[in-house]
Amino acid sequence: MILVTKTFLPPQEEYNKQIKRAWDNAWLTNRGELTLELEQKLKQHLGISNIIMTNNGTLPIQIALKLLAKGGEVITTPFSYVATSAAIIWENCKPVFVDIDPEHLTIDESKIEDSITSKTTSILATHVFGNPCNVEVIESIAKKHNLSVIYDAAHCFGVNYKDQSIFNYGDVSTCSFHATKIFHTAEGGAMFCNDEKLYHKLFYSHNFGHNGPLKFHGLGINAKISELQSAMGLSIFPYIKTIFSERKKVVDFYNAHLNFSLLSKIKIRENTQWNYSYYPVIFDSQNTLLKVLEALEKEKIIPRRYFYPSLNTIPYVNGGTMPISESISERIVCLPLYVGLNEIDLEKIVTIINKNIC
Ligand SMILES: *Cc1c(COP(=O)(O)O)cnc(C)c1O
Repeated sequence: MILVTKTFLPPQEEYNKQIKRAWDNAWLTNRGELTLELEQKLKQHLGISNIIMTNNGTLPIQIALKLLAKGGEVITTPFSYVATSAAIIWENCKPVFVDIDPEHLTIDESKIEDSITSKTTSILATHVFGNPCNVEVIESIAKKHNLSVIYDAAHCFGVNYKDQSIFNYGDVSTCSFHATKIFHTAEGGAMFCNDEKLYHKLFYSHNFGHNGPLKFHGLGINAKISELQSAMGLSIFPYIKTIFSERKKVVDFYNAHLNFSLLSKIKIRENTQWNYSYYPVIFDSQNTLLKVLEALEKEKIIPRRYFYPSLNTIPYVNGGTMPISESISERIVCLPLYVGLNEIDLEKIVTIINKNIC
């Protein structure tokens, strides 16, 4: 069976070697030496000045919203994973959807200002499939209207925009290190923030609000990563270059062999060093998509309808209509992309797709 992704695993001995350190320390969480070491390594690797690792990629979004959106209206994208909208609602804020740009698939920055009201406090946008939003325009709108900007950068490990990490943009950026993501700790995530005061708040918020063992800075929750998760991250860290180059080979193969006269693909924003995190293709209609999926499934190839459905249509969301996002959601599929996907399988996938779209 070929699935949309396959979790990258290091040789088990290398994981065991890291786990043994936690064992020897008898220290399994609360920012132990493995977590601190992984944070240092990631900072250096990504060229960023700070990081707070967390136990998943959803809580950092919630913490950022708690601190910045404060129960107000949050302008957001309907084309993302459900965690983006759910975090807004979970934090008792109101999602206000703005449709997406049909080429880049990120929030359409030209439509944001029309949706701002006196209750708007934040913009929460997703750099979807690792493709940066139009950060310059979004940030100038935010400045003009005194809004905070949070980026769901769950897909963005290793993405650079204008020669620096995409995590440097926005008041807060968040990432996911879930097992399906490009770099992972089984479950895990991180938040990034370059403002010292806000960083301090994010930091204590992720650890129950503690100010030392006996005092509290403020309200907090438990979003700490464990040493067992960090052990996974440390044992994968040496393979990051391999992961990127192997994924690039798959992407290059699709780029060279799919029939793009009958298919379209995401347009990566200029000045982006992309991370080969997903390979979405957009069909001319949902019918074509269903036909292709059925043909692939017969050969035990299971891509994923990602993202589907458009988040504004989820029952508890009440998000109005978003014609572009709804249309794209119905026609988009992420093709299998992972380390170890070989050319024989790739050829099979490409042949089935090209045959079924004409
Ligand atoms: C994976 C993902 C998340 C959530 O991350 P978890 O680590 O699974 O909590 C949030 N947003 C997007 C866009 C994602 O793809």
